[in-house]
Amino acid sequence: MELKEYWSDSYHSSDFKLTRIGLVAIRFRWLVALLIIGIAGWIAVDWWVLDPAHFKLIWKMRLITGAMLTPLLPLSYLCKLNRRWMIASLYFLIGVLLTFNLVGLWSFRDGTPIPIGYIAFPYFLLALLSVLPLPVKSGLRVAVVITLCVLGTDYWLNPDSLHGGALLDRLWLLICFSLAMLWVQAGQLRMLLDLYRESTRDPLTRLMNRRLFMRQLELQRSEGGQRPFTLILFDLDRFKRINDEHGHLMGDEVLVRVANTLGDIFGPDAIVARYGGEEFIVLLPATSLEQGLRQAETLRLAVESQPVENPLGEGEITVTLSAGVVEGSHDSDLHSLLNQADEALYDAKRNGRNCVQAAA
Ligand code: GH3
Ligand code: MG
Ligand code: MG
Repeated sequence: MELKEYWSDSYHSSDFKLTRIGLVAIRFRWLVALLIIGIAGWIAVDWWVLDPAHFKLIWKMRLITGAMLTPLLPLSYLCKLNRRWMIASLYFLIGVLLTFNLVGLWSFRDGTPIPIGYIAFPYFLLALLSVLPLPVKSGLRVAVVITLCVLGTDYWLNPDSLHGGALLDRLWLLICFSLAMLWVQAGQLRMLLDLYRESTRDPLTRLMNRRLFMRQLELQRSEGGQRPFTLILFDLDRFKRINDEHGHLMGDEVLVRVANTLGDIFGPDAIVARYGGEEFIVLLPATSLEQGLRQAETLRLAVESQPVENPLGEGEITVTLSAGVVEGSHDSDLHSLLNQADEALYDAKRNGRNCVQAAA
């Protein structure tokens, strides 16, 4: 995982962004549910430990806070789909909790000893937020907002704290808790990204696997607009023979080399995947059938003209491939589109292999 991927989600793929936000939304929902139960349930403890004058204000404040947090539970299902909703919900949660803390501290301004829970609340909040796998940039923003609000509240309630060491002391502690939160969040992000890559990448060629490709294809169909897209399905010719005559190591080397050539030939907009054993598939957004056929032909020639060397040093072999090309649009049925590409590929095999065939 690269450092920039820890820093911001703008360096993550759109599919991983959705996966991560889905997980954040689930954890967020649990967090909100536990906070509602905890904050409202604590009324029993307050009734036991607080004097009636404070209790009278605080039990109402706890119920209001719980009620304000409740809409976040259904909203978290929307957040799963939308990053902006997620961020708005997170800051709403922080705002409500810090206001709750502020009113609590304010109610003790008469000199009554403040219960430790109200002093420790911002640190508790930072610890709770560490369950969310946020990139460092987002986590840092959250930490800065909480730190500034807490210090502002402190100063507002007790302006003298600026002159004594108390404010500095609090700042130091907030920084320590923020760093711990960022550390845990980044660790979770790393684990999530590693697992995501393991489950969506082919370990041999490092291309995306069929599962992720199908999600990308569905995304292209539903969000790609009116312009057509093209699918190219490739299959290596007589690959079984390569395995049988030169060994599986050579077979693997051929697959890696073809995957590299695919990466070289198709631009950054193309979505390239290992579709099956020795089958590859390419999705070309905003591309017509004619353009797709030309690109498939370019790849066919490139693969044919680059012999693959045996990793054991036993000479080199020429590899060829056949391709089926089909054009799709936003109203295509993906299943039949893939079937058409498969039939075109089968035609290419029947026509003698090492050729490109358009779907009928
Ligand atoms: P055709 O020209 O008709 O496509 O013939 P073919 O021999 O390529 O087709 P077939 O489907 O019979 O053979 C595919 C072979 O690919 C069978 C399988 O052992 C091999 N294969 C699948 N995955 C891998 C892999 O990851 N590494 C290696 N070395 N071989 C693989
Ligand atoms: Mg095959
Ligand atoms: Mg084959």
